[in-house]
Amino acid sequence: MLKAQETVLEIDLKKLKHNYKYLKSRVNKDTKFLAVVKAFAYGNEASEIALCLENLGADYFAVAYIDEGVALRKAGVTTPILVLHPQAVNFNVLIENNLEPSIYNTKILKEFLEITSSENKQNYPIHIKFNTGLNRLGFWQGDVETIKNIIGETKSVSIKSIFSHLAASEDLNEKTFSLNQIGTFKAIAHNFEEIFGFKPMRHMCNTSGILNYPEAHFDMVRSGIGLYGFGNSEEENKHFKPIAALKTCISQIHHLEKGESVGYNRAFKSESALISATLPIGHADGLGRIYGKGKGFVTINGKKAAILGNVCMDMIMVDVTNISCEEGDEAIIFDGNATAETLAEAANTISYELITSISQRVKRRIIRV
Ligand SMILES: *Cc1c(COP(=O)(O)O)cnc(C)c1O
Repeated sequence: MLKAQETVLEIDLKKLKHNYKYLKSRVNKDTKFLAVVKAFAYGNEASEIALCLENLGADYFAVAYIDEGVALRKAGVTTPILVLHPQAVNFNVLIENNLEPSIYNTKILKEFLEITSSENKQNYPIHIKFNTGLNRLGFWQGDVETIKNIIGETKSVSIKSIFSHLAASEDLNEKTFSLNQIGTFKAIAHNFEEIFGFKPMRHMCNTSGILNYPEAHFDMVRSGIGLYGFGNSEEENKHFKPIAALKTCISQIHHLEKGESVGYNRAFKSESALISATLPIGHADGLGRIYGKGKGFVTINGKKAAILGNVCMDMIMVDVTNISCEEGDEAIIFDGNATAETLAEAANTISYELITSISQRVKRRIIRV
């Protein structure tokens, strides 16, 4: 029986390398690769992940917020970093750290131009985001002329790319919608070239887009979840290896009689004699209450142990009645076999939410290439 001493998120860089190579094999040799490392590289460890991918030859990184980009620069990442959702209040920090903003409306464009002009910047790289159907962030198709008018003759910025984002790239029932988004983006790119007189880099596909819409790879693709080991179907998942394993240990075992309850609010009541194991991981570690009341489970000595009652802040209790185990044994929340995707689905959510929720309290252990 495997022993464990504390809760750890193991991150295997060999598996990251495998996923990177697989994704690269799905795009043309001259298509650039942007690795999305926002939200601590989806809950993993952004600096380690980015430095590893930089080494492997990733062309670009993306983060959501400016501070995430600053952390990468502090760790020594020198590759260009696109900030997907910058806030104008931190534009000076963005510029100091040589980060490249996504510009998605006229307000933020004007605010950025103000600062680049006042600092006498020349050709500061920016990326223009277009909305083609996700209706989240982005200029509209008809805004190209307006953008041109606002930028005017200023040389303080240089548009390095134009991009958009698919709303349902993983869902083939929405293929018509996705193809329509791709068509709109092509029209925007064409219009852009006519109005501006040059061709910036174009990109649109996230991981599922890479897998499902090779015709939309354009000049660069942007992958997050695929790098961390999840495809968009059971078939595709065979090619990916989840890079993270969340493991903990059994702190205590209790033998309970019929009719006893477990945990807060007595949310579980036993209908027969029961053995429970208490584990040092709770909702403050990112295992939310949605996993409680039998929905979520862990794996102990190769067997599934359901979560009993409510998830506490720092602990869960699981049912080990039919599992031979003792205090100090290892318990797996997710790994390459019992995947984060399966656990997430058991609670009606998605792998993205589960893995990005693993809180900073959980120790990260890096397994190197
Ligand atoms: C998060 C994000 C991605 C990455 O998506 P995955 O599905 O994880 O590959 C790509 N592009 C944008 C704009 C994003 O916000």
